[in-house]
Amino acid sequence: MASVALRHQPLLSRALPLLSPRSTLHLHLHPRRSFPFTFSFIRTLSRTPHMSTIAQAKRGFSSKEDERAASPDDLLFEPPLRIVEYPDPILRARNKRIETFDENLKKLVCEMFDVMYKTEGIGLSAPQVGMNVRLMVFNPAGERGEGEEIVLINPRVFQYSKKMVLFDEGCLSFPGIYAVVERPDSVKIEAQDITGANFKFVLSDLPARVFQHEFDHLQGTLFFDRMTDEVVNSIRTELKVSVSKLSLFLLLPYSFCVAIIFVSCCTIKVFLRLRFGS
Ligand SMILES: [Zn+2]
Repeated sequence: MASVALRHQPLLSRALPLLSPRSTLHLHLHPRRSFPFTFSFIRTLSRTPHMSTIAQAKRGFSSKEDERAASPDDLLFEPPLRIVEYPDPILRARNKRIETFDENLKKLVCEMFDVMYKTEGIGLSAPQVGMNVRLMVFNPAGERGEGEEIVLINPRVFQYSKKMVLFDEGCLSFPGIYAVVERPDSVKIEAQDITGANFKFVLSDLPARVFQHEFDHLQGTLFFDRMTDEVVNSIRTELKVSVSKLSLFLLLPYSFCVAIIFVSCCTIKVFLRLRFGS
């Protein structure tokens, strides 16, 4: 997740798809400058009894489909990691459970935090760096040495709050694109830490927002899947630019080969003419 907007404005934000221009209503500030968060966000389960489950996103995989275990090879990587951008199919691929908690996993987590800070993100999921495994890191402070670094492995959500909030979200896999997404205000989750130990806790406010965004990545769900049609329409041009950039990138090697073949044919033709005459 790249960043979130400055303020909660539920009533105003609900009307946003009907208002224009959108850019006059949103401030896309980096959270470390805009969100005075205190990091006392991990609460005990007993303090939040009023929660219920909501429907899943438009896209994404069921929990049963996510049970495949990652092999040690699935966790091998070559630093430095790079951010995978939409519409790379890695972002829609299934992500495997992690069952090997070793030094390599710790190095991967360190590399992910490194990429996240360098790209001014506050959260990052493994598929966003080309690793299709169920791992996310985040730090709502967005600054190394500040806030609290959270590592969640094989996370699961078992309850969402009824209270829904709207927030302007960005995503490192969609550079420069920000839009309103509605999500539950808090989530009750369980996960494993870097040693493999299980734990449960409740996230609320910004950490809950970041967690849900990254959890969606682990489900193959992207933030525009959660947007209303009106909001998606408002960023459709930017999304198309992302697609065309990748298309160009994929076509470059093909174009290069065609050019090489063309030049070779012309060279041979000229040579034959010079050698044997026309
Ligand atoms: Zn994202």
